[in-house]
Amino acid sequence: MSESPTLRRMRHETRRRSLRIAQIERLTPSMIRVVAGGDDLEGFHSGAPDDHVKVFVTTADGQSAMRDYTPRRHDAAAGTLTIDFFDHVGGPASDWARAAKVGDTLEIGGPRGSQVIEGPIAHWLLIGDETALPAIGRRIEELPEGATATVIGAVPEAADEQAFDSAAHVDARWVHRTDATDPAPLLAAIADLQLEPNTFVWIAAEAGVARALRDHFLQGHGLDKAWIKAAGYWVAGQADSSAKDLEQG
Ligand SMILES: Cc1cc2nc3c(=O)[nH]c(=O)nc-3n(C[C@H](O)[C@H](O)[C@H](O)COP(=O)(O)OP(=O)(O)OC[C@H]3O[C@@H](n4cnc5c(N)ncnc54)[C@H](O)[C@@H]3O)c2cc1C
Repeated sequence: MSESPTLRRMRHETRRRSLRIAQIERLTPSMIRVVAGGDDLEGFHSGAPDDHVKVFVTTADGQSAMRDYTPRRHDAAAGTLTIDFFDHVGGPASDWARAAKVGDTLEIGGPRGSQVIEGPIAHWLLIGDETALPAIGRRIEELPEGATATVIGAVPEAADEQAFDSAAHVDARWVHRTDATDPAPLLAAIADLQLEPNTFVWIAAEAGVARALRDHFLQGHGLDKAWIKAAGYWVAGQADSSAKDLEQG
């Protein structure tokens, strides 16, 4: 195989920003899109589609909490930042998004850094659940003409599927599942997938699901570790938990 991809790490100045919510929409039944802006967004930089910011919220018992969210779209000219929140039961960030109104404050910090995936990538295979769709959507939208990608997204139902604009050629496939902690539906969707040479595989989902998918490619396909990035974006039954780099897990 030719040269392997590399992760180029960038550091950014971290500061807390108070933004004003300008727009809220139900993107799909399970996803709440919040668009916020204001002077405090000045200097914001996000260098990679799978960056994350900390979103600061208050819990039901008045404690301060923070959770990780993807900067889905930063429009520097319009001065807006878009974040998509998956609407699940029982978390302060999800509760916050459900109750948020235009004019409310969105408190964020970061991103502290970015990992830019570079190298001779001929094809992107992007797999994940709802929490991964903001990063997948952003990557797809940032791909240039001539690039190709396959998306395999797991969502509750057809109405939760998302449409992405892209200059690239994108094959989006959707899996409808009831239990986001069960790897079986996604494993079935990738069972017969052949990897073209120089395919970069990017995975984010519940940690156990992401680990099962990663094992499938590393053990089942013998994929070189340099060609995969897998993360647990949340951990079943544990608040405020993730496994951002399964390489180190
Ligand atoms: C790098 C990174 C980027 C991320 N980007 C996004 C994003 O753009 N949009 C997004 O929606 N999420 C994103 N996530 C996931 C998000 O951070 C977690 O889902 C987070 O736990 C939600 O916080 P909460 O306060 O709602 O729930 P928590 O208080 O953290 O958890 C409460 C309970 O809910 C469960 N839970 C947490 N998340 C889910 C879920 N998705 N589905 C079902 N049960 C869940 C937990 O296991 C726990 O039992 C990202 C995570 C990482 C690491």
